[in-house]
Amino acid sequence: MPLPSYQIQLESNEAITPNVRKLRFKFIEPSSFTYRPGQFVSFLLEHDEKPLKRSYSIANLEMPNSEGLVTTDYLEIVISYVEHGRATRIFFDAKEDDTFEISGPVGLLILGSEIPERVFLIGTGTGMAPYRSMLKQLPELPQHQFNILFGAQKAQDLFYTDDFSTAQEHQNINFYPCLSREEQEGAFKGYVQAKLEDLKPNPETDLVYLCGNPNMVDDVFSMLKDLDFGVKQVKREKYVFSKF
Ligand SMILES: Cc1cc2nc3c(=O)[nH]c(=O)nc-3n(C[C@H](O)[C@H](O)[C@H](O)COP(=O)(O)OP(=O)(O)OC[C@H]3O[C@@H](n4cnc5c(N)ncnc54)[C@H](O)[C@@H]3O)c2cc1C
Repeated sequence: MPLPSYQIQLESNEAITPNVRKLRFKFIEPSSFTYRPGQFVSFLLEHDEKPLKRSYSIANLEMPNSEGLVTTDYLEIVISYVEHGRATRIFFDAKEDDTFEISGPVGLLILGSEIPERVFLIGTGTGMAPYRSMLKQLPELPQHQFNILFGAQKAQDLFYTDDFSTAQEHQNINFYPCLSREEQEGAFKGYVQAKLEDLKPNPETDLVYLCGNPNMVDDVFSMLKDLDFGVKQVKREKYVFSKF
């Protein structure tokens, strides 16, 4: 069955780092949308009169109901700049009131009912969007420990840090910004892989989520396999490029 499609309208388009823009849309028709934190949507775009389909994670910060679902009237996404990128050009140039068609939601990078004691939520760049959408859900699961690792090159490349830092007021949430190319107080110097190693991942007690750059996802997955993690103990979402 095809996924439902929605008409949405751009409300704001703002640079939040030198390479990332945050876009907020309102739902026009239908006027509301239901998703699970961690899922993504597909934008049905057009380039040179040919259809172009691109996926973007939902970055909304909202409280799900008791079934883990959120019904909303807006969509927030974060988009990183890709040189000569066709969708990139469309979104970076998009103006308030421009309308778009999306379909969805899709994706299994969600918090299921059977998560273990300790959960790692690891991302690079815009791969942090799904974890931002989970932030209201995490304090509702106090028997689980959530370690959020945000990989970026420099401090200027981090975003949503107020949301991730504030979440640490809850005892079961830790946030670790990891900077590969800069020293900064309060941040780990190095790749997310190195920070994860410090935290001693254990296949007996842990579940690991990986999202974003395909190289990071593959590197961390191979490190975890060496530590005896099984495929089901690592949930992966790679931001792979489209062939068309
Ligand atoms: C499930 C899923 C969720 C995603 N969520 C997000 C999200 O939340 N935010 C986000 O920014 N992106 C996300 N992406 C990636 C996004 O869908 C597009 O692939 C990306 O925006 C580039 O599209 P484009 O049309 O601008 O580039 P294209 O026109 O497809 O590519 C132009 C050129 O750049 C190369 N290229 C494409 N992407 C990259 C890249 N990232 N780095 C280096 N070279 C590249 C291509 O090989 C090509 O040569 C997601 C992808 C998937 C599969």
